[in-house]
Amino acid sequence: MVSLISTERVVATSKTSATEGRIVWSPVKSLWLFAHVGLGFIAIFWFPQIDAFLLFVGLTAMTVCAGHSVGMHRLLIHRSFQTHTFLEYFMVWLGTLVGMAGPIGMIKAHDMRDWHQRQRVCPPHPAHGASFWKDAWWQLCCTFELVSPPTFIVEERVREDLFYIWLERTWMLQQIPVACLLFVLGGWSWVLWGCSLRIAVSLIGHWMVGHYAHRAGHQGWVVKGLPVQGYNLRYLGLLTFGENWHCNHHAFPHSAKLGVEKGQLDLGFALIQFLQRYRLVWEVKTPASEPTREGLARA
Ligand SMILES: [Zn+2]
Ligand SMILES: [Zn+2]
Repeated sequence: MVSLISTERVVATSKTSATEGRIVWSPVKSLWLFAHVGLGFIAIFWFPQIDAFLLFVGLTAMTVCAGHSVGMHRLLIHRSFQTHTFLEYFMVWLGTLVGMAGPIGMIKAHDMRDWHQRQRVCPPHPAHGASFWKDAWWQLCCTFELVSPPTFIVEERVREDLFYIWLERTWMLQQIPVACLLFVLGGWSWVLWGCSLRIAVSLIGHWMVGHYAHRAGHQGWVVKGLPVQGYNLRYLGLLTFGENWHCNHHAFPHSAKLGVEKGQLDLGFALIQFLQRYRLVWEVKTPASEPTREGLARA
């Protein structure tokens, strides 16, 4: 048996297999997605209002950029910068509002995929290896369950944090206070545009970026010896707040800066720099902050 690589949170034992597993349909994931897609369509066709559209754009940008990309991904998952606890909580809460999972669920989903992609052989589900529609079905409506999974350990500061435990248990319910506020301010149109359509677009958009960013695109670096590589999706810097520079992320996972090359727009990093200017964020990591990843070479 080939020995498996372990990562900080995902520890392989002699019994672990990274490939033996099955794709299982998840009724909860499917229902959550299709309910918001359906309500999102109602928003567009029954309430085609400019105010609701602007609210949708603003809330999507805020939750995906400050919440998902900066709070969940660059801070909670990678610890690519330091910040005050209140700001960390606020940004991770915003990330939860994206409607993907709670903080611990997000760390697990990210780190399991990352662990899979670091092995010599990566199954098609975590590699985004299937065709467009099949991968959509797999990622948005199913889960990949290993027969002998590795041990997944979340660090104590997150695992025992009462706020994160509460957020993890209630991540779907976190939409309720937002929906109530939107209802008071703008009625049903604001609830449907600001919650359901936003969640539907965020979930599908997130999957699409993951799908294309593991298939083809611009490559500044390669990680030699690995079957799965990340690719930069050009021209999507504005829409994805920098998460499109996925080749760079595979090359420098610790870096808070994703758009590392000239002309690569990274709005998430711009937010981090803005917060740094007001001393709300410090110890911001760049590609040079940590030793180079094994096997990394210029493409
Ligand atoms: Zn990746
Ligand atoms: Zn990452």
